[in-house]
Amino acid sequence: MSSENKKEILYHSVRLNEDSCKGCTTCMRYCPTQAIRVQNGKAKIIKEKCIDCGECLRRCPYRAKKVAIDAFDSLSLFKHNVALVAPAFCGQFSKTTDIDVILTGLKKIGFDDVFEVALGAEVITQKTKELLKGGNLPKPVISSACPAVVRLIAVRFPSLKDSIIPLTSPMEASAQMARKKAMEKTGLKSEDIGIFFISPCTAKVTAVKQPLALAKSEVDGVLAVKDVYMRLAQAITSVKDVEKLSYAGREGINWARSGGEAKALGIKNYIAVDGIHNVIRLLEEVEDEKIKNIDFIEALACNSGCTGGPLNVENEFVANSRLRNMAEGIDSPAAECGDLSLLWDKKVEYEPFSPLDKDMGEALKKMQQMEEIYQRLPQLDCGSCGSPSCRDFAEDIVRGKAQERDCIFRLREKIEMLAKEITELGKMIEE
Ligand code: SF4
Ligand code: SF4
Repeated sequence: MSSENKKEILYHSVRLNEDSCKGCTTCMRYCPTQAIRVQNGKAKIIKEKCIDCGECLRRCPYRAKKVAIDAFDSLSLFKHNVALVAPAFCGQFSKTTDIDVILTGLKKIGFDDVFEVALGAEVITQKTKELLKGGNLPKPVISSACPAVVRLIAVRFPSLKDSIIPLTSPMEASAQMARKKAMEKTGLKSEDIGIFFISPCTAKVTAVKQPLALAKSEVDGVLAVKDVYMRLAQAITSVKDVEKLSYAGREGINWARSGGEAKALGIKNYIAVDGIHNVIRLLEEVEDEKIKNIDFIEALACNSGCTGGPLNVENEFVANSRLRNMAEGIDSPAAECGDLSLLWDKKVEYEPFSPLDKDMGEALKKMQQMEEIYQRLPQLDCGSCGSPSCRDFAEDIVRGKAQERDCIFRLREKIEMLAKEITELGKMIEE
């Protein structure tokens, strides 16, 4: 990959609000890719390691992590705007479980039209079935639905990148469908139509702003579920003249919950894993070839699936229970893929964290140095140095980003040694 592309990959939706950060190290301890350091009392995100999973946003007790997302006002940039509504959004409301009420409500608060992402999920289900039938992908095939997982594989599990199903996400598929429908309905040009995804997670924000496997996203703007919820929660109670706007079937709606995609595919030997730390544990075993006789892995970074996204408002278990009730009894006819462009435009490239040195010999020397430093450290992974583990700390020292005295144990040893030397010197002077 060219250095130009490498620079581009550094777009991130998760950011730090430095003024609010207290340097407590909570985010550092939970970050699944060891992408956070705490230095001089403030957290820092190492861009090459961050996968925008939003775990730090969820965990920070001081709300010092924020998401770079579009403002509601950006709807006015287009002549006609469409809300792309994921099923996870529909599970947020305690006052109604009627999808048509929620969709009609969105039209009352400023959207010209709505389109269900569950319809895109149905189309992706069909296309996935076709690709799996072809049997050309290395098993277990890994779902491409969660952009945080795709990024994780790109930065940490290079040997698995060819196992990812090379299909666009339900969000992208539904954006194409929504645009086509809006153009037919309004007679407007594509550039006059704004497709806005209401996102439950930070990873999908990044996937729109900088898709890994597409030349460009079909989505024009991303709004956070919680921001739209604030506007809609009250409005929803006074929705009259409810329009028939929901057409998605049970299988598409169920994609929001862990296991929903695999179930829709009708695969027998699958694993559905949720929660980024669980996903990492499983992928490590897949990489080590410990997982046998499994055809498909549905891996979602958020707990319980998209309903567990950090930009949602509702408890994921409650949202899942509502979605289950909403989906029950709705038929799921097979979707038509038509002329939609559903395959990736390009392969996901391996994006390694910068090597210790460009020169192979020097890199090896630095690895040796790293090991020696690590052996001198207490190996307690206490985090008080500002690095997530003693190994990361040793690496940070070799990279020139930290100093051995940042470790309080090493500092204490040094002070004790100095004190001893001073005492001995004092004795010598007295003699
Ligand atoms: S959790 Fe991280 S971002 Fe939040 S205050 Fe603590 S160190 Fe700062
Ligand atoms: S978004 Fe995820 S990967 Fe990035 S710094 Fe936060 S916890 Fe780590």
